Amino acid sequence: MDETEIAVIGAGPHGLGATERLRAAGREVAVIGEPMSFWHTMPKGLWMRSRRNGSSIGDVTGPLSMEGYTESTQAVVERHLSLETFIEYGLWYQQRVASDVIRRQVVQLARAGRGFVLTFNDGTHLRASRVLVATGIAEFTRRPAMLRQLPTELASHVADHGDYERFRGKSIAIIGAGQSALESAALMHEGGADVEVLARHPQVHWLHGDGLIDGLGRFAPLFYAPTDVGPIGISRLVATPEVFRRFPRPIFDVIAARAIRPAGASWLKPRLPDVPITAGAVVTSATPHHDQIDLQLSNGSSRRVDHLLFATGYDVDIRRYPFLDRTLAEQVRCVDGYPVLKRGLESSVPRLHFLGAPAARSFGPVMRFVAGSWFSSKAIVKTVAAQDRGRSARRASRSAAAA
Ligand SMILES: Cc1cc2nc3c(=O)[nH]c(=O)nc-3n(C[C@H](O)[C@H](O)[C@H](O)COP(=O)(O)OP(=O)(O)OC[C@H]3O[C@@H](n4cnc5c(N)ncnc54)[C@H](O)[C@@H]3O)c2cc1C
Repeated sequence: MDETEIAVIGAGPHGLGATERLRAAGREVAVIGEPMSFWHTMPKGLWMRSRRNGSSIGDVTGPLSMEGYTESTQAVVERHLSLETFIEYGLWYQQRVASDVIRRQVVQLARAGRGFVLTFNDGTHLRASRVLVATGIAEFTRRPAMLRQLPTELASHVADHGDYERFRGKSIAIIGAGQSALESAALMHEGGADVEVLARHPQVHWLHGDGLIDGLGRFAPLFYAPTDVGPIGISRLVATPEVFRRFPRPIFDVIAARAIRPAGASWLKPRLPDVPITAGAVVTSATPHHDQIDLQLSNGSSRRVDHLLFATGYDVDIRRYPFLDRTLAEQVRCVDGYPVLKRGLESSVPRLHFLGAPAARSFGPVMRFVAGSWFSSKAIVKTVAAQDRGRSARRASRSAAAA
């Protein structure tokens, strides 16, 4: 059976960022997964919500940052990035740090002695002393009971669509008030669909535009972190995950929720003047009617549409990772589906780490974004080195005691 010191499951921004740091620190790393695969599933025509700096994998500056990419490739990258540009950057990054990526699926991760055994979809195995799970949120789509009970031709989750071509000429109601709902509405409207957004909240929020940050001039970095998560002020708090994680839980939760409350990027607003947005309306019932669907809303109104699209986001629950051995999953201490992580994003199972969105309950909302890869990669390298030093020191003191 093949062996490695560290197995990184996932070749998205978090897995690649950690691989780069660990290898730079001289660690033996095997990285597994289809590079940037999650981003390929997103609808064509999408733009990144985070700005250029907040879309760097790992460090915000340096040769592998978005800045380094534009310098090295002469690619023209505006302050806001298209999905295609980000994928190109991710693959460029992967070529530089993990050209040996193992393009296989992990079908099982189980504990074996002091380490772990990974089983691949071709039946082969890999033994690893340490495992980093960086497999993203694709398994976590939030599908309310109403969606699950409706036929797929009439209702779906945004994650089910790589493009919205099939909705041309159709009437669509979109449930949600975040970037995903609003950007889907814009893309569908521009693609010739008749769209309405139905938002549960009494008001749809818009993120501040570049003007506000630019207006702060040279003081901008004091109030707005390059991670680009959260409003001015809060952005700074959540950009220090090691400090933020020590906040009392109620304060942590309030700030985290505020940092990622459903909102649309300011550049989306001008694309939606002809799209009705009905705020404060909950769909109370959805009933198929031939090849359409009848909706009753909490405000007493009703609609008949061709399709109901749920932009209802994702609920992290690591037990939904299909490859996680059940016994191992039970050993990972979790709260609300999130693993409780300590320094270095390590779970209650020694040498098993979780990166990306599953780390958000312990280290804050930045972990849900590409920008969080800057922190997770550094934190893991530090912890691995500290644990090695601890082991060497214990070994030395045992030898001294025996002598
Ligand atoms: C529509 C949409 C728009 C978004 N826009 C932004 C944005 O603008 N900015 C931002 O920062 N974030 C954005 N996000 C959030 C985004 O999902 C995360 O920032 C990002 O994907 C985190 O990277 P990751 O490495 O944790 O996960 P992913 O990018 O999802 O990578 C997961 C990796 O794991 C691999 N994998 C999964 N399961 C297995 C397995 N069993 N075996 C082997 N490999 C496996 C996959 O192949 C993939 O390589 C957006 C999300 C959505 C849904």
